[in-house]
Amino acid sequence: MSHPPASTTRRVNVRTPEVMQRVQAEVQRHYRSPLVEAIRARGGHLEIGNTTLRLAREFGFCYGVERAIDLAYAARRVFNDKRVLLLGEIIHNPEVNRQLTAMGVQSIPISEHEQTVATLGPEDVVIVPAFGAETSIMSTLKERGTQIVDTTCGDVMSVWKRVRSYAREGFTSIIHGKASHEETRATASRALGDDGKGHYLVVLTLEDVARVCDFIVNGGDTQVFLNHFGGVSSHSPGFDPTLHLKRIGVANQTTMLKSETEEIQRRLRTAIEQRDAGRGDNFQVFDTICGATQDRQDGLFDLLRHPLDLLLVVGGYNSSNTTHLVEIGEQHLPTFFIRTSECLGSVTEILHFDLHHKSETTSYTDRLADPQAKVTVGITAGASCPNNLIEDTVLRVFELRGIPAETVHQACKPA
Ligand code: SF4
Repeated sequence: MSHPPASTTRRVNVRTPEVMQRVQAEVQRHYRSPLVEAIRARGGHLEIGNTTLRLAREFGFCYGVERAIDLAYAARRVFNDKRVLLLGEIIHNPEVNRQLTAMGVQSIPISEHEQTVATLGPEDVVIVPAFGAETSIMSTLKERGTQIVDTTCGDVMSVWKRVRSYAREGFTSIIHGKASHEETRATASRALGDDGKGHYLVVLTLEDVARVCDFIVNGGDTQVFLNHFGGVSSHSPGFDPTLHLKRIGVANQTTMLKSETEEIQRRLRTAIEQRDAGRGDNFQVFDTICGATQDRQDGLFDLLRHPLDLLLVVGGYNSSNTTHLVEIGEQHLPTFFIRTSECLGSVTEILHFDLHHKSETTSYTDRLADPQAKVTVGITAGASCPNNLIEDTVLRVFELRGIPAETVHQACKPA
């Protein structure tokens, strides 16, 4: 295949009014739930017999996810005679990714991005997911003249703008996120700056941050420090903590836990000020948690003000924002991270993702078991979870309590 000149790249606008009209009808058909909308309209509260359900104030699809899905569906319809590829997953929800695969969109696994995009040409259409993609991948797509449908969320691009500005000003980006997450990889590539000479370090846990703070204040052994961060994906090439922790700017993956991100910012600022005799001019911070993540975390805190027996968090197990909702729930009550309603195997048996052991496991609970006891179940979902999956979960909870779907639908009808 010949190598087309760089100027042939086409960012394609697939959102014409005619296409979007068709696409939105299809998206609604796949993911909408009138039942969930009806419960929302009742303040998220539904009581039937001795079973009460409470939905969080905010849950499910965010604006960035809705846009990404619309664009992916539109790309499939506009290029119905072409091969349409997707870099990894459009969002972190298996149901949505399954739908796209069924529509003929081919996902390129992350480990194969570089080698695959290097073989593409102008006849290929590539969807960039909501998380964005690394600069090296985008450059190759441009060089190959590939048609790009870019669904990167604007909130992710705000983080990129911030880390680029850190690089321009000679600050190392400290990125609070998961080094292997698509969004963090994309952000880290921008932290190298326009000239590629910038630096970054990805921190995930408070233990990581304690190491960084200790090195800032007391110095230490470079190799021991780098070994802790375990591999090049956690830091920029040539990163040297002695040189590159002098001036730091903090950013975060958009979907982190707000309270943890704030604590990380505070600790790093304190370390810099301690080293620099109270001066803070070698420290910058910009909170890049997106509004949707924040709203879902706040919505859950509101939900937790009500007495609940059990919390179900619905979403993809690799979804960052969903994971943090589970962490919040676990601090207050029995919380189960489920993929779909099928995880609710019986009135006592729940298949769920255990964050601490990082595996799917079956747990047993008697919280729903007594049909005579009053029970309140809370439900929330991350920004990548469609409402149809929430509906299935609502109906399954009532079914396990002996209340059939027709009764639930009937109870939600306007008076
Ligand atoms: S979770 Fe936030 S950053 Fe991610 S797509 Fe939604 S709005 Fe954008």
